Amino acid sequence: MNDIDVLISEVGPRDGLQSIDTIMSTEHKKEWIKAEAEAGVREIEVGSFVPPKLLPQMADAFEVVQFAKTIPNLTVVALVPNFFGAKNAIEAGADKICLPLSVSETHSRANLRKSHNEVLEEIRKISEYIAKIDGSQKPDFEGNLSTAFGCTLEGSVSEDKVIKLGAQMMELGCDEVGLSDTTGYANPNQVKRLIRLLKKEVGEENLTSMHLHNTRGLGLANALASFEEGVTTLDSSLGGIGGCPFAPGASGNIVTEDLVFMLDAMGVETGIDIEKLLTVTEKVQSFIPNESIYGFTKDSGLPKGYEKGWGVLKS
Ligand SMILES: [Zn+2]
Repeated sequence: MNDIDVLISEVGPRDGLQSIDTIMSTEHKKEWIKAEAEAGVREIEVGSFVPPKLLPQMADAFEVVQFAKTIPNLTVVALVPNFFGAKNAIEAGADKICLPLSVSETHSRANLRKSHNEVLEEIRKISEYIAKIDGSQKPDFEGNLSTAFGCTLEGSVSEDKVIKLGAQMMELGCDEVGLSDTTGYANPNQVKRLIRLLKKEVGEENLTSMHLHNTRGLGLANALASFEEGVTTLDSSLGGIGGCPFAPGASGNIVTEDLVFMLDAMGVETGIDIEKLLTVTEKVQSFIPNESIYGFTKDSGLPKGYEKGWGVLKS
């Protein structure tokens, strides 16, 4: 990641597609992932290893991971809810697996059907399993603190609980922890404070990523706040497709195109070609014509005479 400042981690094929009714075909998923990688996106969360009965949209996760692994220079991420899912994701070849632990225990029971202790036990089993894998095959294991900024079921969420669970996940063998505003409750001050507090507990280098939703329009403000606190991986969804089916009212990941435009215009290197990215949006829209696709940059187009970092060049 030496040549880029911020790694955009596209989560549309997972967080996006799992929240809409339309089931995208495996071929279309593959086309989407390939096209976005060609636009310069270097990390994509391509699926979730949950039982197909719960999320039929993700039933082809194994095949999609295997395909994504054939694309050069792409880090392939899979979400896993438990040990069984993790084993499958690793067998498919995922470079990185991400397990969400809802800081709100009510949400944890609704989302993963598990208490905190039960989720932590899954993390312990996964870590032990990964420890036995040979060096080059060993995936990165991220523990994700979801509903870290508030929960649609519990309301406010205690920061002490976030810190404590983050520390526990690291102790149990996660390589890093990430913060998720699953419900779109966060504001920039809260984002900055929680990043500082959690970094103090787990170490600067072990908190590098942030997952934000734009439910109340603060997504980009929160992304900028995260960047200013040294976060170098930002999750987003092409066309803002997304949400969480088990957190009512928690819709809309931050929009990849708008996030890339903001960083690109600021002169922050993402490695992504914004014009190419906008052609991927059109492609994906044609795959799911009955679903809403969001984005200010997509709707308005790039400014006249736009060039990368122009805000920096002209000031
Ligand atoms: Zn999400």
